[in-house]
Amino acid sequence: MKTPLYSIRMHASEAGTHISGAEHLASAERLELLAASLLRRALAHPRGVADEIRITVEEVARQNILGGRLPDITTVQVADFHQGRRAALSRLIAAGVASTAAESAMQALIHGAAPGGAVMRGAMLIAAESGERFEPDPARGIRASRMDLTPAILAQLRQALKLRGLDNPHLCEALVLAGKVLLAPGIVAELCWSDDPGYTAGYVAAPASGYVRFPQLKPLGETRGGRAFFVREAGLNLAALIEFLETAPVLFDRLGTIHPDDQFLE
Ligand code: AMP
Repeated sequence: MKTPLYSIRMHASEAGTHISGAEHLASAERLELLAASLLRRALAHPRGVADEIRITVEEVARQNILGGRLPDITTVQVADFHQGRRAALSRLIAAGVASTAAESAMQALIHGAAPGGAVMRGAMLIAAESGERFEPDPARGIRASRMDLTPAILAQLRQALKLRGLDNPHLCEALVLAGKVLLAPGIVAELCWSDDPGYTAGYVAAPASGYVRFPQLKPLGETRGGRAFFVREAGLNLAALIEFLETAPVLFDRLGTIHPDDQFLE
C-alpha cells in the first residue's frame, strides 16, 4: 500500500492583508520540517510582519494526483522593467491574448489588482479575448493550489538552475505554479511578477512557449505584484476551471528543458 500524501499550505497576513503564502505536497515524515520552514518564511517576509499565520495540512487521495512535466524555461534579458513589460506584452499577444486584455491586466498589476489598489492573495482570471474578469472574489482572486514537484526532480532542477546562476526559491515555486496553471483547461497564458520588493523578475507562461522569464518586470522596492491567468472564453466551464486550479493535486515528476542561452531582445 502506498504511503499517504498530504497538502501542506501556509498563508500569512497582517491586519487582513496578504503577506505571503506557500505550499507543498509531501509524505508524512516530511511534514514537520516543511511546517517549520513555512513558518520561518511567514515570519521573515520582506512585505511585513504577519499577525496571523495559518498552516493547513490535508491528506490528498493518491489516485487523484496527476504527474507532469515542468514547463521549459527561457530567459529574455531586458535593459529595464519598461522594456521587460513591453516584451511581456508581446509574448502575451503571441500566445493569443488580445492586446487590450493584456494591457489592462498589466495596468491592474501595476496599480494593485484588488479593490482599493491592494495586492490580491490569488490571481485575476481574465478572458483572453475580451479582458473580462471572472474571479468571484476580486480581493482574494483564484489560488492555484495543491501542486509541487517530487524531491528528486527538485534536486535535479536546483542543480540545473545553479549551473546558470538561477537557483532561487522564487523561480522553483513559480515554475511549479505556472506548470499547474498551464495544465488547466482553456488556459491561454499567465503573467506574473512578485510582490516581494527585492525580487524584480517575472514571467509569461504559455502552452507553446513554456515559462519565459524577464529579469526585470518591476522596479526594485515595489511591493505590488500579482498574477493574471488568461482563459479562452469558448467552451469555458468557470466552476470546473476554478475547481481544477484550486484543488486538483499535481506532482511534477519530469523536468522541462532549461534553455542554455539567454535570449536578447533585438
Ligand atoms: P509571489 O510570486 O509569491 O511573490 O506572488 C506574487 C503574487 O501572485 C501575489 O501577490 C498574489 O497576488 C499572486 N499569487 C501568489 N500565490 C498565488 C497562488 N498560489 N495562486 C494564484 N496567485 C498567487
